[in-house]
Amino acid sequence: MNSPLFTQLGLSEPLAENLKPLGYHQMTPIQAKSLPVILEGKDVIGQAKTGSGKTVAFALGLLQALDVKAFRVQSLILCPTRELADQVAKEVRKLARAIHNIKVLTLCGGMPFGPQVGSLEHGAHIIVGTPGRVEEHIRKGYLKLSSLKTLVLDEADRMLDMGFSESLDQIVSQTPKSRQTLLFSATFPQNIQDMSDRVTTDAVHVEVVSDTSESSLIDEHFYPVENDSRFDVLRGLLLKHQPERTVIFCNTKLETQELYSNIKAAGFSVLPLHGDLDQKQRSRALAKFANKSISILVATDVAARGLDIEALPMVINYHIARDLEVHVHRIGRTGRAEHSGMACTLFSEKERIKKNKLEEYLGRDLPEKDVPDAHYLMEKPFYPEMRTLEIAGGKKQKLRAGDIVGALTASGEVQFDNIGKIQVNEFVAYVAVSHKVAKMALQLIEQRKLKGRKFKARLI
Ligand code: ADP
Ligand code: MG
Repeated sequence: MNSPLFTQLGLSEPLAENLKPLGYHQMTPIQAKSLPVILEGKDVIGQAKTGSGKTVAFALGLLQALDVKAFRVQSLILCPTRELADQVAKEVRKLARAIHNIKVLTLCGGMPFGPQVGSLEHGAHIIVGTPGRVEEHIRKGYLKLSSLKTLVLDEADRMLDMGFSESLDQIVSQTPKSRQTLLFSATFPQNIQDMSDRVTTDAVHVEVVSDTSESSLIDEHFYPVENDSRFDVLRGLLLKHQPERTVIFCNTKLETQELYSNIKAAGFSVLPLHGDLDQKQRSRALAKFANKSISILVATDVAARGLDIEALPMVINYHIARDLEVHVHRIGRTGRAEHSGMACTLFSEKERIKKNKLEEYLGRDLPEKDVPDAHYLMEKPFYPEMRTLEIAGGKKQKLRAGDIVGALTASGEVQFDNIGKIQVNEFVAYVAVSHKVAKMALQLIEQRKLKGRKFKARLI
């Protein structure tokens, strides 16, 4: 199959040349459909599933339109969560790295306000942020959008779900009418259509329907449960299959928190992920899950959406999702690429109607399975292979993964094989180490110098 190439787009040279070393040659379907229209300057409403390459599509569009010499805010990208904003900012910086002196700034809630004001005073071309915080900067007069050329609403459905509707309207009202608006959403319920109508003009709709052959690697299981047996069925599934990593989806924050407590009380290695946690808790949970230091993440859709979690061996829906497309999204978290995965959905008699609707929507039967045998409930919970060492230093302290590996392995106490994923954030680094060397690794980091100084560290 011949996918269209980026070279056919007529991108400016620094943008086009830089795509090659990044390994971007052929466009993904959503890019092929949306980029020509975006580059024409039209408003676009785009619908495609997570992982389809939407960021590159809107980022190339706004970078092509940008005039670096005009040192004003020309693009604003709004995202539902700080993690997504960080991911988007990273991708934009990568794509823009051949354009000199371009300034990309993130403005997210949960971060200190003052330093953001300082950064704004220094100026920026592109802002990536969450609606609440961006609105606050506008309201207090720190952020001016009168020169805005491109407005991007990424994961618009999630932003509305999170109650950002008013903030979004406030922000949009401060932008010039002449702006280009690009709105991306995985689902299109009525409220998104209403908002699209309000914020876009003569928009071109582009949609990439998910390929059903992709989901064939996902083994979907439906388990009929009574409400009071729901938790035991969940426990049985975990104990029977012992997946290395599982995301369990709940429909509300409250349920997420309660289920997390129950799973923890049952002895499993688990953390919650939802919007009421502070930034530190969320980034710890994600780091520990990604590096295999916890086996289970109990999450709301909002919190788990769009995050770059690798293919999961198992996804469990503790209840059927309220929205059919959300269901498809959830189970798409497993069985990615060549990996096969299992998606388990628990449903009560009351929820059967949703299952029927889902069958109608997907156009196929969703077979029911027998719940795991009761003897599994007698088994002991399993444990993850790694632990996480948190170091109180990151990119701002010039810390790099190599420094950490060096300090751990220098005199042979810890072998390479015992070190897992290393994630270096702005002010903190997370290092996965196997259980048996965890204490030793902690001592080494506390005793040795990294980049010429000592850092505090602890096992989390
Ligand atoms: P979405 O926002 O649609 O969920 P992303 O923009 O985060 O998806 O892209 C998912 C991944 O695909 C990213 O890791 C990105 O680097 C990669 N990617 C995007 N476009 C291309 C491309 N044309 N060729 C190869 N990889 C790509
Ligand atoms: Mg995205």
